[in-house]
Amino acid sequence: MFLIGYFKFIHLIISQSPPPGDLGAFNMTEDLSFRDRPINLNEKGGRKWVYAKKPSGKWYTRRTIVSWILLLFFAGAPFIRLNGHPFILLDIANRKFIIFGAIFWAQDTFILALLMLSFVLFIILFTVTFGRIWCGWACPQTIFLEMVFRKIEFLIEGDYKSRHKLDNSPWNTEKILKKTAKHAIFILISVAMTNVFLMWFIGSDAWLKQISEPVSQHLTGFLIMLLVSGVFYWIYSFFREQVCTMVCPYGRMQGVLLDSKSIVVTYDYKRGEPRGPKNTGDCIDCRQCISVCPTAIDIRNGTQLECINCTACIDQCNKIMEVTGKPKGLIRFDSEAGIREGHTTVWNARNRAYSVVLILLFSFFIYTLFSRPAVETTIIRTPGLLFQENADNTISNVYNIKIVNKTHDDMHLELRLISPEGKIQMAGNEIKIADQDRFESTFILFIPKEKLNSDKTEVEFGIFSNGELIEKYKATFVGP
Ligand code: SF4
Ligand code: SF4
Repeated sequence: MFLIGYFKFIHLIISQSPPPGDLGAFNMTEDLSFRDRPINLNEKGGRKWVYAKKPSGKWYTRRTIVSWILLLFFAGAPFIRLNGHPFILLDIANRKFIIFGAIFWAQDTFILALLMLSFVLFIILFTVTFGRIWCGWACPQTIFLEMVFRKIEFLIEGDYKSRHKLDNSPWNTEKILKKTAKHAIFILISVAMTNVFLMWFIGSDAWLKQISEPVSQHLTGFLIMLLVSGVFYWIYSFFREQVCTMVCPYGRMQGVLLDSKSIVVTYDYKRGEPRGPKNTGDCIDCRQCISVCPTAIDIRNGTQLECINCTACIDQCNKIMEVTGKPKGLIRFDSEAGIREGHTTVWNARNRAYSVVLILLFSFFIYTLFSRPAVETTIIRTPGLLFQENADNTISNVYNIKIVNKTHDDMHLELRLISPEGKIQMAGNEIKIADQDRFESTFILFIPKEKLNSDKTEVEFGIFSNGELIEKYKATFVGP
């Protein structure tokens, strides 16, 4: 019953996708020099499936190595410990973030914003200089789709021809077995991915504890995990390259970020044209570069929204150049200006300016990170309470105190009044805070009447650790 439902579901999705097989390696005649819509949409806005040829070559091997390193980091980072503490933790529920071992609390939003700003500027600088290198080499969408899911698909269903044949054949035993195996593995990987993501947010220890307890104790978390896994499965099984061509805003920013000096995957039109087997250019118009492209575009038409700089077309064209006895690199990493003028320069005024801003911003981030206090203190007068006049000729105010321990060590602290002269009476005796924990309490501050110069006097507190002043905090004291 379940299997019949499953196949009906798969068939429904596949049959709703308009005619398969008309893009990628099967698109060897269509003129792609003018388009008024993304390549994988037909004139009615329906989906066109891409059957890309399996890529191979020097650049693909390099990308595979980079992607395995990144995948290893993704899966391994939640388990890495620095002095017994997580290396990475994005604990949104408790507003606590550990990035490369450094703890950030909600109170550190400014420092986190600096870090995010530096990261965005870094991506912009890289895009201005090296185009969409992020998309092809480091974006999780590309890495998971091209280096995990697509490789499994090639392994089970074969290259583009067998896959196309399989998709268009009736549901026979071979198709049922292959599709079941592929989708079962896709589902397992989606669930595994979701669980690793979960570890980034709750930590590996909490995750291990949760999965060792009955599901009923974590029903909401379990349902969210299933939902996210389902979304991953749908993206990598069906939605695929549309994330890059239709959803991701980064691709759409290329028009403003790239200029003629940006180094991108590009076709050397000076060498290649006039194209065709009987013409004098090096391009023999074999369209092999289109056949391997995961977004099915023709790079000979210039930089396009759909190009994720995956380098598959470079490898494929290099193979053709080997066969035709022409120098490799008809498609290569180069800039429009480099091809036009015959020499490529990486540095120009624009990326130099971005680099200066990035260095300044990142230096400021490092400075604020290392100069921030080990604790974050907040002292406010208890709302709704006025001052009190006492028999010993003092005035007293009641305060609420909150201290966050931002370090990985337990802290034994002391609250002292720095100015003016007065006395603190704490509710409870000691301020002991475990690592990454917080302390909340109330205290009364007594100040002799003669020390008050107005109805609102500024008072200064000091937080001491082992007799050493680690933070100062100013508040207001009200009097008659
Ligand atoms: S693979 Fe190279 S030779 Fe063949 S069409 Fe593309 S650019 Fe021309
Ligand atoms: S055109 Fe862009 S997306 Fe297509 S194969 Fe070449 S680098 Fe990859």
